[in-house]
Amino acid sequence: MSIAPDQVVSIHYTLKNDAGEVIDRSRDEPLTYLHGHGNLIPGLEQALAGKQPGEAVQVRIAPAQAYGEYDERLVEQVPRRALKGVRNLEVGMRLQAQTPQGARTVTVKQLTGDLVTLDGNHPLAGQSLNFEVQVTAVRAATAEELAHGHVHGPEGHHH
Ligand code: ZN
Repeated sequence: MSIAPDQVVSIHYTLKNDAGEVIDRSRDEPLTYLHGHGNLIPGLEQALAGKQPGEAVQVRIAPAQAYGEYDERLVEQVPRRALKGVRNLEVGMRLQAQTPQGARTVTVKQLTGDLVTLDGNHPLAGQSLNFEVQVTAVRAATAEELAHGHVHGPEGHHH
């Protein structure tokens, strides 16, 4: 069975940045996802379409097909007092912020005097992603999985 929308796909993968550093990888168990439901970044789903169990895929995905281009408009400065509820504020910390567009995760980029620079970009925004993937299994999704848009069963999670 080859990979197409509405199939449950298991993969082992290694993700590296352009400097060759490993950013993420599957552990002992493969990652299992429902294909065609936006559960993976678009570029990776495209690269996997049509592949079969046992096949290996190597692909470099541009930011637009991964976590997006880096958007300077998502960087803002707020006074420290706006974050007075946050303990031990430090650079690199990830926070949930309320914005006019709803809750979003921001990263503390800089602390300068009374000002805190917050970055609402995904940590991998603006980066090309280099994936090495091994397809381990492909099966049809159940009706319930399709209704929920995610995988059930021992290899999936439920919420
Ligand atoms: Zn479910």
